[in-house]
Amino acid sequence: MKTALVCGAGGFIGGHLVARLKREGFWVRGVDLKFNEHAETEADDFMIGDLRDPYVVRQAVDRRFDEIYQLAADMGGAGYIFTGENDADVMHNSATINLNVLDAAHKRNNKRIFYSSSACMYPAYNQEDPDNPNCAEDSAYPAAPDSEYGWEKLFSERLYFAYGRNHGMEPRVARFHNIFGPLGTWTGGKEKAPAALCRKVASVSDGGQIEIWGDGLQTRSFLYIDECLEGVLRLTRSDFQGPVNIGSDEMVTINQLAGMVAAIAGKTIDIRNIPGPTGVRGRNSDNRLIREKLSWAPQQPLKAGLEPTYQWIERQVMRNAA
Ligand code: NAD
Repeated sequence: MKTALVCGAGGFIGGHLVARLKREGFWVRGVDLKFNEHAETEADDFMIGDLRDPYVVRQAVDRRFDEIYQLAADMGGAGYIFTGENDADVMHNSATINLNVLDAAHKRNNKRIFYSSSACMYPAYNQEDPDNPNCAEDSAYPAAPDSEYGWEKLFSERLYFAYGRNHGMEPRVARFHNIFGPLGTWTGGKEKAPAALCRKVASVSDGGQIEIWGDGLQTRSFLYIDECLEGVLRLTRSDFQGPVNIGSDEMVTINQLAGMVAAIAGKTIDIRNIPGPTGVRGRNSDNRLIREKLSWAPQQPLKAGLEPTYQWIERQVMRNAA
């Protein structure tokens, strides 16, 4: 039986990944500070532990796994990443996790390890035009991410590749672009735009008003969780080490995204644009490299993923209100 270790298994993407690996017949160990709040874990073994602690990490990586997925990070949406208040935590916590996990994996002679970087590592100067952002993989340098979260991702990407070059490990690095779906953070300050908008729309009645940070003309693309996992597994099991974008190339403005959510909800919504943290003006996944290297790229329209996500968040909102 094949074995996998999922670090960050109590999180949104990690929780879905554990379920997918179980469906494939893997024996899976998950590690996280916490269990997933929204679903029972399907992991065979789930360690509650802090990956900033090298002793905990040595216990988690106590053998050679066929595949290791390192998704644990101190992260959140714009309200967490761009205010500046969490910069030291974000850099310290996530870098420490990556330093610990990689070293323990190397010492136990693990080879194949997936690392989730982020599109937030791309230079801000290439993302000022909302209609034509440049997020090609080779546009990363000269580096100028617009957040400390992005700088940490860039550092850690390099760390993984250094362990590949110097220690014979086989890192696989993806740069995720806004992954969304059911079972994700939808309230509390760490939620991202799709979940926040689904919550806001679900919370108002027909004809009501919702607030959106900035003028709402900033552009992004959003990838549904199932397609993200497909990309992660294809990359991890391929000969291509990356870094490569895993994202959708269906770019929308945040106001348009709100309109799509309202249409799914069957509500007419008035948008009020207010000052708030927004990040770069434009961002879209450039999928040329993934298509070339993996002969695959995400295809599903945004609307198809928004529907189940909205239904799930609406249920959470109603349950909370009850
Ligand atoms: P998430 O916050 O739901 O999951 C991260 C998990 O890491 C959490 O469950 C958290 O408890 C855990 N964690 C944090 N610190 C830890 C520690 N010290 N020890 C053990 N566990 C710890 O986030 P997610 O959306 O599932 O993202 C997973 C990965 O993908 C992260 O590395 C994130 O930076 C990256 N990423 C996500 C997106 C996205 O849109 N969701 C976009 C770009 C990159």
